[in-house]
Formats: sequence, structure tokens, C-alpha cells
Amino acid sequence: MQALVFDGHLRFDPSHPDPTPQPAEALLAVRLAGICATDLEIARGYMGFRGIPGHEFVAKVLEGPPALKAKRVVAEINCVCRECDMCTAGLSTHCRRRTVVGILGRNGAFAEKLAVPAANCHPIPDTLPDEHAVFVEPVAAALQILRQVRIEPRTKVTLLGTGRLGLLIAQVIARTRCQLTCIGRNPRTLEILDRKGIRTQLLADAQPREDQDIVIDSTGSPEGLPLAARLVRPRGTIVLKTTCAAPITLDLAPIVINEVSIVGSRCGPFPEAIAALAREEIDVTPLITATLPLSQGVKAFEQAAQPQSIKVLLKTEV
Ligand SMILES: [Zn+2]
Ligand SMILES: [Zn+2]
Repeated sequence: MQALVFDGHLRFDPSHPDPTPQPAEALLAVRLAGICATDLEIARGYMGFRGIPGHEFVAKVLEGPPALKAKRVVAEINCVCRECDMCTAGLSTHCRRRTVVGILGRNGAFAEKLAVPAANCHPIPDTLPDEHAVFVEPVAAALQILRQVRIEPRTKVTLLGTGRLGLLIAQVIARTRCQLTCIGRNPRTLEILDRKGIRTQLLADAQPREDQDIVIDSTGSPEGLPLAARLVRPRGTIVLKTTCAAPITLDLAPIVINEVSIVGSRCGPFPEAIAALAREEIDVTPLITATLPLSQGVKAFEQAAQPQSIKVLLKTEV
């Protein structure tokens, strides 16, 4: 099969071996996959990953249990043991023995086919097009914030970073009708939010006043967290959505003095994300910069890394 492989550098392999599904796994034919910041970090060596990256995708089930056969699905990315202390405590996304699709110890979706646990698959409604369904994984990650921190209409929230994930987080948080400000450096992405009536500010104009109840860092940059620390109020909360390979330098004294909580945030609820996208509560169309065939995957990665790019999608030719 065709696949995009990272083995120290990213290359297209036109004749990669097909995946062999293990017991309880489904074999999927990938239809559309999205390149996210994590993939760009992986291509820079993040997590020491080797193999086929890609974890945001929509696919059709080739082999699997009867309930899934021939269904169009999205799939959760944590493949878990269901036996360890985290799994039995209901925290299976933190499974001690997990593999993660396209990120940790398991091939991902930048290929014609992939195998994932059948239990990870969620069939999607016919009314949800591939171009929207491919955003389920990052929308779920955005929704996870609402499971971790309480946001009410009077809550002052600042979102730092209006890139791929930031534009989704902004729309998810705006649904709470809180006092939201989104800070970014790219006027084009800020415009997308302006058109939705979401308050925006250029990074250069940001005035850190330690007055925000919650600051969400989705900058993907080592500079995000130090700025968040200057925006958040005493006893406020910083939600970290940034994973970057580069180390972050942060003076921790103000965190102690101001009694700031820092909350890491990763994967979220797929069923809610599918429902939100199916109801068109989150607009993903303006986020799609380009759609390239899988065979042009290396070029697609280069394009995705350009500052003016938002989401670059990879389509499997069938
Ligand atoms: Zn991602
Ligand atoms: Zn486990």
C-alpha cells in the first residue's frame, strides 16, 4: 500500500506492507487524514516516533465486527490494555501500556490502510462529510478542556494561539458564552474568529495584566506558557494544550506566589465531537488550506509547516 513513513526523515513509500489486524482489531481503509502540529513535531523527532504518522482521520471499515462492517468511522487514538491501574480506574486514555495511533508504538493514518482496536471505532452519520469528520479528533481534544475546568458566562478566558487547534478551541469555548479573548499572531486566522463575533487581539497588542480566570495555551510554542503566566489572575488556571519538542523556560516563582493551577489537557470525548460537528456547531470549512493526495504527503507536510497554512488534508486515491 501507499504510506508516508518517518524513519528519521519523512518519505513516501509506494509499496509499504499492508497492516495485519490483531485479534479484536478492525482493518480500515483511510479516506481522508489531517496533518496537525503533533505530526509536524513528530517529523522533527518528537516522541522518537518511527513508522507511519497520522492520527486525525476518517476511514471505511474493511474487516471487523459485523456492527462496523463497511461503515464510515473515526477512531480514538489511544489503544489500551483495559487491565492496568489507570484502565481499571476509568482513566484508560492514560493506560500504562497504551500505544497511540501514529504517535506512540503504532502505525497511523497517513497510509491507504491501518489497523486499530475495533472498540476505538465510532461510526459517523451519513450527513457528516469526510471533510468535517476528519476534525473529530482535534474537536474532541478541544472539548476536553470543558471537562477539566469550569467555564461559565462570567468567566474571563484568554486563548493563546489561533492555529489549527486554537481555531477549534475558540469555537468550542465560545459556545459557553464566557468572556473570551483569542490572541494570535496571524491576522488571517484572527479574521476567521472576528467573522464569528469572537473577540480577538494581535499578540503584539496583548497586555498581560494577571486578570484572566483561565488562560489556554495552544500556541505550540515554548513562548506560550510564560505569556500565559503573565495573563492569568492569582488562583487562576492555565490549561496547556501545547506539546512541543523544544524545552520551555518558565520562572516558577510567580506560579507559586499567585497560586496558579496548571492543567495539562490531551484527548477528549469522540461522541460529543461527532455530535457537535454533525450539528454544524463548529465551522471547520475555513480551516482547510489544501487537500493533497497521499502520494504528495511530503509536500503536504512542507505546506502544513508554512505559517499561513491552517489545516492540510491528505486524501487517499481510491
Ligand atoms: Zn493531532
Ligand atoms: Zn491499561
